[in-house]
Amino acid sequence: MNYAVIADAYGKIEATTKRLEMTDILVNLLKNTPKEVVAKIVYLTQGKLYPDFAGIEIGIAEKLAIKALIRASGRKESEILTDLQTTGDLGQTAEIQLAKKKQVTFFSKTLTVEHVYETLDKMAKTTGSGAVDTKMAVFAGLLSDASPKEAKYLIRTVTGNLRLGIADMTVLEALAIAYGGGKETREPIERAYNICSDLGRVADILVREGLESVKKMQVMVFEPIRPMLAERLPSPEDILEKFNGKCLVEYKYDGERIQAHKQGNNVSLYSRRLENISSQYPDVVELIKKQVNAHEAIFEAECVAVDMETGDMRPFQELMHRRRKYGIENAIEKYPISLFAFDLLFVNGKDLTREPLTNRRAILEDVLNQNIQLQIATQKTVNSSKELEDFFEQAIEEGCEGLMCKALTKGSVYQAGNRGWLWIKYKRDYKSEMIDTCDLVVVGAFHGRGKRAGAYGALLLATYNPEKDMFETTTKCGTGFTEKDIDYLHSMLQKHVIVCRHSRVLSMMEADVWFEPFVVLEVLGAEVTLSPIHMCSMDVVRKSSGFAIRFPRFTGKYRTDKNPQDATTSKEIVEMYQNQLKQIQSNK
Ligand code: AMP
Repeated sequence: MNYAVIADAYGKIEATTKRLEMTDILVNLLKNTPKEVVAKIVYLTQGKLYPDFAGIEIGIAEKLAIKALIRASGRKESEILTDLQTTGDLGQTAEIQLAKKKQVTFFSKTLTVEHVYETLDKMAKTTGSGAVDTKMAVFAGLLSDASPKEAKYLIRTVTGNLRLGIADMTVLEALAIAYGGGKETREPIERAYNICSDLGRVADILVREGLESVKKMQVMVFEPIRPMLAERLPSPEDILEKFNGKCLVEYKYDGERIQAHKQGNNVSLYSRRLENISSQYPDVVELIKKQVNAHEAIFEAECVAVDMETGDMRPFQELMHRRRKYGIENAIEKYPISLFAFDLLFVNGKDLTREPLTNRRAILEDVLNQNIQLQIATQKTVNSSKELEDFFEQAIEEGCEGLMCKALTKGSVYQAGNRGWLWIKYKRDYKSEMIDTCDLVVVGAFHGRGKRAGAYGALLLATYNPEKDMFETTTKCGTGFTEKDIDYLHSMLQKHVIVCRHSRVLSMMEADVWFEPFVVLEVLGAEVTLSPIHMCSMDVVRKSSGFAIRFPRFTGKYRTDKNPQDATTSKEIVEMYQNQLKQIQSNK
């Protein structure tokens, strides 16, 4: 299959902001793809070669891509850099400069998807001394064979800037339409994705073997399961009402979620974003090898920084020191951790995700040899709001964020990849009208003045709307940032700057700078109000009104553990608004 076909589809996808059109283009592309290439196309359209958990990235630095472009185009460095200043996008510059190409290569061949994939794969796997030069030379070769338009997307792919805005859910829908037999088959395809987190593999099985084989896909060790998520409610009464008067309550620890996979002496740890983080936590790997009493197991735990002398839990931020490549031994000593296990998803060949919580929990207790470093989350069954509130106070007292309240019914399965009412979080009241913090996505920024000149003065923040697969603005936030935060944000956000509003962002405000939705920050506001200018849940409750968070303040927490799609949803903001109304009424 020719790479030009993909480049063409990319061009069309870029030209639309409508998700339905995007899906149609993708369906067409997938239908016209030979079966054996579908998985590669699925990865490539997401700017990847493998699923995230494989940890293999194409990534080459922009500087290196520029060198390759110079070599392939025969243009001068100064010409390319000047053009780059105008376009702000190396992909576009490559397209322009290659169109002016002086030396016509006589051996130029047609690029196929297979060849592009293999070449990028070779680049991704090249390591050791001389790797940089090899990668550059290989990539220059690829560019020499590329048409200007192909070069544009190749450059964006290797520098990690493809940003077509196609979400996983859009790919799943397109697969259901193209190969499942219709939109309604998305559910089993999505379930398969939720238990293996590998879109390419699901696509491959679907096109080669059909829907029935996809339905038979099983949970497997070393294929991370997409995490189950929780809803939120503001009071014990609301929570108990949802659970018909009885539920399991557990401490909500303030740490990093870890999904541990064990098979014999092999252990891998995955983050909430499903990256393999085993190398950050060699101490956890050893702990699991010793304390888990099963040949095969997949369980989830919160990893919390602790003070070994007092046994006290330390704030989430301390775990940041573990996010490093070098000096791990030192960090282990300085920032020790404990694990609090809260769910078991698989044991010795048996998938437990469809079992009720009580069964999963009972087996978890059998499988773990608990000690001071590895414990099961403190829990209790409650059936009155007084009991729930008391347990909440106890959790806060011991350094937790609040409680996770969980359904105890027969239907209390592990909802992989989904947020539902089987788990409800109840967090600390911040003594303000807004009962909870929100995790919002940075989609734009406004230039700062005075002390903040040259940096960003305020950020435009958005919620996520999973139904539309869009990010909807809800507030402009300029408070709560220390000077260090301001500098850090300015440099960190550079990687995500784009020339105009991202196709998955809904905004009426014109930001000075736009970003691809990537960075998630925790924000506390005074209250949620109706708003004519913010797009969060626009027209949902009232015509021409969205929802805004008033007086937002950054709490200091960078939610690096969250993907933009894990941010607070637009629906949650409406729920917060409705809860606020209820509270005002009950205070009257
Ligand atoms: P949030 O990040 O505020 O949406 O809350 C959900 C997160 O709480 C999960 O992703 C876990 O990392 C964390 N958590 C802490 N304790 C528990 C628990 N007992 N059960 C489930 N999740 C927990």
